[in-house]
This record gives sequence, structure tokens and C-alpha cells, in this order.
Amino acid sequence: MEDVVDATQDKGSPAASAASTTSATPTMRSSRRATTTAWYSHADCAGHEMGTWHPESPARLGAIDDRMIASGLAEVVSHEEVPPADDADLLRVHPQAHLDRLRAIAPQAGYAAIDADTMMCPATVAAVWRAAGAAVAATDAVIEGRARNAFCSIRPPGHHATRDQPMGFCFVNNIAVAVRRALEVHGLERVAVVDFDVHHGNGTEDILAGDERVLMVGLFQHPFYPYSGVDRPAANMLNVPLPAYTDGAAVRAMVEARWLPALEAFAPQMIFVSAGFDAHREDDLGQMRLVEADYVWMTQRIMAVAERHADGRIVSCLEGGYNLSALGRSVAAHVKTLSGD
Ligand SMILES: [Zn+2]
Repeated sequence: MEDVVDATQDKGSPAASAASTTSATPTMRSSRRATTTAWYSHADCAGHEMGTWHPESPARLGAIDDRMIASGLAEVVSHEEVPPADDADLLRVHPQAHLDRLRAIAPQAGYAAIDADTMMCPATVAAVWRAAGAAVAATDAVIEGRARNAFCSIRPPGHHATRDQPMGFCFVNNIAVAVRRALEVHGLERVAVVDFDVHHGNGTEDILAGDERVLMVGLFQHPFYPYSGVDRPAANMLNVPLPAYTDGAAVRAMVEARWLPALEAFAPQMIFVSAGFDAHREDDLGQMRLVEADYVWMTQRIMAVAERHADGRIVSCLEGGYNLSALGRSVAAHVKTLSGD
């Protein structure tokens, strides 16, 4: 932790500005901004599997890698090391008992079921800690100016994991871990979470509702799993339920009418994206009708807010997306946009 603070203070980062009552906010510092998009992924994330029938499969990361290589984007992004998360990073979001429970449930062989579609295999703990570690490392790199923005090609996903309950293919809430790292280690004061997965990010909401340092904007198909998000639990949650078969034009109109004014007013110093691609029209786990161009458009809008208020700082973490071809194409489109390519 010491080196993180030392390194960031050299760059006049949020940690330094938080330590001073007079210095400028992080949004005003742009002199050392990197131009690269950093890419975080790790083989451990493909070790976790829940059975050959399960849509949240290791093949998802392979499909993304294939598309990144075929498109030439793999050579545009910088491939970064992914250390496993420290428990201290997870404990800003989850109680110790949650981490103890995951380690205790993890089987020596076969599967240990948490619910009907969330289970652990012998490789799950390594994948979970590595996925969260990617989110932490990406956050550090972007805040410290080593990357302009970052994408974490990780699994298991995280946005359904509540403070104390793994569910919906999720065990640890990666995006919330990254948010708390930015706030509590780097001293940022306002960050936004954008969640465009087809499912409501109930876990992120559970963790961050009422945390006035955070604005979360989301969209999700409703009524649909996990059947939450309609009752606004706190002023800092702006989740927009949408009916099945909503198309890109309607989503764009919603983003312009609801998300963008809220984001502009909040003026986040950094934006975190729960990037699920299961609202794609080819994805059978949802019934929405987005296509790659819609993800590009949303990414551009998010980047524009980040440019105005956050010195461009964005960390995007993979959530859902289960049609392998559509997932690969959508991630490539999202990352191509982030890279400015
Ligand atoms: Zn989803």
C-alpha cells in the first residue's frame, strides 16, 4: 500500500490531492495521461467451470481472445499482469465470513452448489481472487496514469454478488471491489458505476446503495432475474427497468434522457463499467435487442462524460454475455472504442 501512495503522489494523483485541502481535484490533472487501453485477463479465470451445460463457461474468455486477435486489437491494448486480490481489497466490500464461506465450500473434486446455477469447482477460488485482482490492478493503473482506461476480461462475473451472498454465477463483486479501492485507497471522492448487463446488478446495488460517493446508473430487462431494482433503494441508484425486446434506439433514448444528465450532474472523477453483453439480440439469456453498434454508442457516451469530468478514467469489467460469437464481437467493439482505435 505504501508504494501505491508514494507512486501516486509523485504524479499528483487523487491520493495526493485527497491529502491536501488546497490542491486541485483529480479531474484537473491531465499532464501525464497515458494513451493506452490496458487489458487484464488471466488463465486462472478460465479454470473455474460449472459443468459443460453451463452458459457461464471458460469458452467465453476464449471467444473474446479469438476476436481480439482476429481483429488486430490484441496488439493495440497493453497486456498487464494480474495478481490475485488481497483479502484486504475484498474486505472493503464483503465481510470476512463471506470469504471464509467461499473457501470452506470450495470442493476438492466435483462441484459444490450454492444455488441452482451457481456452483464452485476446485479452481473457483483461484478464479474469483484473480478476477477481483484484475479489477484492483486496473483501477490502480488508470488512477496512477499508467493507462488511460482498462478492460478486465474476467470471470466469474460479479454484479449479482451481494455483501454476503454469492448468486447468479457471481461470488465476489468485482466492480464494487474496484470502486472501494478507488475511494478508500486512492482517495477519490466521487465515482460512477454504469451497468448495462441485461440483468439488474442487485449485488452492486446492495453494496453501494446509500454510499453517497457513488452514483450507479443501470439498465436491465424487467421483469427478469433477479427480479429486483424497481424500488429505488437510495438516491444514488438510478437503475432503469426496460421491457423485453427493447431495442437499441429505445436504449439510446433512455441513456440520453436519464443516465447522461445524472452523470453530468454528479461529475464523477472515475467511471466503472459493469460490462455485460447479454442484452445483445443474439443472446438467449436475455430478450433485449442490442447490437455491437449500441455498445459502441454507449461506450462513446461514457467516454465523453469521463473526458469532461474524470480525465478519461474508465475501468470496465466483464459481467455477462453468453452467445460466444456476439460476446466476442461486442467486447471487441467496446474495447476498440475505449482504445480510440
Ligand atoms: Zn447478465
